[in-house]
Amino acid sequence: MIKKFIQKILGKPQSSIATTNFGRRVEIPAAVHGINPALVDERAINVVRTLQDAGFEAYVVGGAVRDLLLGLSPKDFDVATDATPEEVKGLFRRAFIIGRRFRIVHVVYGRGREHEVIEVSTFRAHLDNRAAEQVKGNERTSKSELAGMKHAVDSSGRVLRDNVWGPQDEDATRRDFTVNAMYYDPESQYLVDYHGGMQDAKKKILRMIGDPVARYREDPVRIIRAVRFAAKLSQLGFKLEGKTAKPLSGMLRLLEDVPQSRLFDEMLKLLQTGHALASVAQLQQLGLQHGIYPLLDVVVERVETPFVKAALADTDRRVSEGKPVAPSFLLACVLWADVKVGWDSRLSKRVPPFPALQESIDEVFEARIGDVSGRGKLAADMREIWMMQPRFEKRIGSTPFSLVEQARFRAGFDFLRLRAEVGEVELTLADWWQEFSLADDAAREDLIQQAKSEKPLSSSPNAAKARRAPRRRKPTATGDSPPVDAN
Ligand code: ATP
Ligand code: MG
Repeated sequence: MIKKFIQKILGKPQSSIATTNFGRRVEIPAAVHGINPALVDERAINVVRTLQDAGFEAYVVGGAVRDLLLGLSPKDFDVATDATPEEVKGLFRRAFIIGRRFRIVHVVYGRGREHEVIEVSTFRAHLDNRAAEQVKGNERTSKSELAGMKHAVDSSGRVLRDNVWGPQDEDATRRDFTVNAMYYDPESQYLVDYHGGMQDAKKKILRMIGDPVARYREDPVRIIRAVRFAAKLSQLGFKLEGKTAKPLSGMLRLLEDVPQSRLFDEMLKLLQTGHALASVAQLQQLGLQHGIYPLLDVVVERVETPFVKAALADTDRRVSEGKPVAPSFLLACVLWADVKVGWDSRLSKRVPPFPALQESIDEVFEARIGDVSGRGKLAADMREIWMMQPRFEKRIGSTPFSLVEQARFRAGFDFLRLRAEVGEVELTLADWWQEFSLADDAAREDLIQQAKSEKPLSSSPNAAKARRAPRRRKPTATGDSPPVDAN
């Protein structure tokens, strides 16, 4: 506050520098960094202002600053402050302290689908692992022990609890990449940079702060984050710095101790934030095509198959157009080949189509999804998308009317459309359903009559290959609607 007051009176220098043990504090004015303040989310500004008015330090931080600096539009806004989670919570009407390993506060604005969460993290202190509580074994066995600890590491150096607060320079050193470790004050419009993030952004370098090997050891999920940012920023010409990239493939084993749910979430971030194809390319380039997460291995193995490639490209396109995407849809696409094999083999043994499909799906879940607990809805949605596929063939009586009313119709239809695009079913079948979904009741009856007079179309596995119509693209019937709701 005093510093702010002095700065107000004297005016800020063009670029002021102070040296600490944790990098060199550089304050970069708006004229130099060029961030457009109008692009900063109002709610993030509100959080920063509320904290500053209460006497705390507060900045927009991390990916939002990086993206603003690079002219990209940030997907979310994070705030860093010297207020403790309890102090933050006390300042906002709807604020929730979340996380155990890494406690933060979610400040929530708006409701329902339109709601926005600003994540507020308290500056973390420098981690001196020698001073931390040493925990033997994995996180599961030591949960009760961990409950009372603020800073704990396991025998490989993995940080299990990271809740010791400290000054901003120490917080900056704890962040992962130099371009992710800049702070922006929307009031003064100054950018605070301790690790040359601004320079690296200019040079298009993704550089881990500190010793990359030690940083991957502290938190092996940084291995996956390196892939994600390398993929996302490759469109701008960014490259992983040599020392940051080199240890990656040799450190994969460390991921074995990371909870499955965290790995699953990171996999989804690789695949569903608009850079799925680029992420797979990075995984291949960096020698990480196997061993991060079993389902991700399957994605990489199948990326050249037309259906999976089309699904990843479609996901990237949807994200770039600001449309929602759902993990159930993408994973249903990735595992469809297995479902088809099991379905086909049962059909050839004369099992009727529906039970054949049902049994095949059970088998695929058993083999591929395993026990990612809390994913019941995801699995249910995938099953529904798959089970709808043979129903698209039944264009008689009341079946189409009830199918089109199903909550998951759009997801099932988008799936059918992708199958049609790769020649797995007739395009005319997808076109028919598109028309049907948009038509009124009378026109729907006409369409059913019309379908009766057509030669039968089959959506069963591989049926359309022989009679494939010439490829053409049509907009999806669902327009801007989400294929399924978020899981
Ligand atoms: P995105 O654009 O995908 O949101 P991001 O950089 O904002 O990317 P977040 O996961 O939202 O990533 O994290 C916000 C910031 O918190 C990061 O920019 C980084 O400074 C810090 N951070 C997050 N996860 C880690 C981690 N595992 N290790 C070190 N720092 C991290
Ligand atoms: Mg972020």
